[in-house]
Amino acid sequence: MIKVCKFGGTSMADGINMLRAKRIIESEPARRYVVVSAPGKRYGGDDKVTDLLYAAHAELVRTGHVGESYRKVCSRFLSIVHELGLDFGISALLEETKARIEEERSEAFTASRGEYLAGKVMAALLGMPFVDAADCVKFSGGSLDAEKSYPLVKACAGERAVVAGFYGSDESGKVCTFSRGGSDISGAVVARAVGADLYENWTDVSGFLACDPKVVPSPVGIETLSYKELRELSYMGANVLHSESIFPVREADIPIVIRNTFRPEDKGTTILPTARYAYTGRTVTGIAGKKNFTVIYLEKPLMNSEIGFTYRVLGVFLRHNINFEHLPSGIDTMSFILDSEQLKGGVLETLCEEIRLAVRPNRIAAFGDVALIAVVGHGMSRNVGTSARLFRAIARAGVNVRMIDQGSSELNIIVGVDNENYERTVRAVYDEFFGEKP
Ligand code: ASP
Repeated sequence: MIKVCKFGGTSMADGINMLRAKRIIESEPARRYVVVSAPGKRYGGDDKVTDLLYAAHAELVRTGHVGESYRKVCSRFLSIVHELGLDFGISALLEETKARIEEERSEAFTASRGEYLAGKVMAALLGMPFVDAADCVKFSGGSLDAEKSYPLVKACAGERAVVAGFYGSDESGKVCTFSRGGSDISGAVVARAVGADLYENWTDVSGFLACDPKVVPSPVGIETLSYKELRELSYMGANVLHSESIFPVREADIPIVIRNTFRPEDKGTTILPTARYAYTGRTVTGIAGKKNFTVIYLEKPLMNSEIGFTYRVLGVFLRHNINFEHLPSGIDTMSFILDSEQLKGGVLETLCEEIRLAVRPNRIAAFGDVALIAVVGHGMSRNVGTSARLFRAIARAGVNVRMIDQGSSELNIIVGVDNENYERTVRAVYDEFFGEKP
């Protein structure tokens, strides 16, 4: 049995938490590979080491040297090593790291040092070899080169190792990072590379909840999820795990379990390959959502028989490097749902003008401030009447639905409502599918 354990920022935040991680790792000999994040927040309002490092890079660009932010990073690591009572040359390592940051002058390199230093400290604490991810996690064209990485990670990791998360290096050896929260991806890469039986992701919550606890107080926990459900929920804002971290493990059928470093007795959420996933009896597994989307709505009679209509609209998006999320359509109507963030500074107006020229619609309209809510669950395809229940619940809450999109796998229904109705809708849907029935 081989387990890969990834510990997130809160689990690495200080010496005491690192000792909790050590206890967990040492309680099972199968936990042979450890992947770490940089130290995160110790309390509300505290700094994450990675944020300090991004700030240090900005200082470097401005002044030619790293300043106050890097000093804060140093004091975090000095106090961690002191708390742990480790006899470890941390001051020399921090000096050497500073010199390399100033020499490299690369944002990715600077940002990656939180994981690098945390990995060094954990390796010393556990008496395990340290693996620098730059030696084995490979990037090509800005993204993970999985095929190149697996054999290298396997060779570097040997029988046991602590691997730094979040970064790797490209063909020329330059350090690259994943997007924020990317140590989850590193953990999955290591799990796949060493042929793990289980990928344990240790964090500060006991797994996924059926919806956001900021919207519904104390929602039920999710015991099992399939990879597909996870992907839908994490893409739509359930932030427990990086949404790209499933790809390496899914291909190799390796389950993921989300566990809580601070409540190791909790079972957490197990994420299983879809084929091994057994029907739990629930119609809906979870609800997730995000605010701030814009809908571009087009109407043109006989649009359905106009060859190349969608192609020409998408050509406009391509020219402006714009990504769209959903595309619900009717015979003579089509809507494009886009993240509003990309449409600022006149971009929306330009897109509408170019679409007008490209396809000459009878009507084009754009409305912003739309929230999307994803209702996810394999159980939906087994239970007749799910959408009727869903829309009845939303109607009872007095909310007008602006858009509906059902994935063809019958795994999710996405509902668009006005931003201001987001919380009310999530509560109504939660009560319908999870609430106590009289
Ligand atoms: N330290 C990085 C971040 O804060 C990566 C991670 O923690 O997964 O985004």
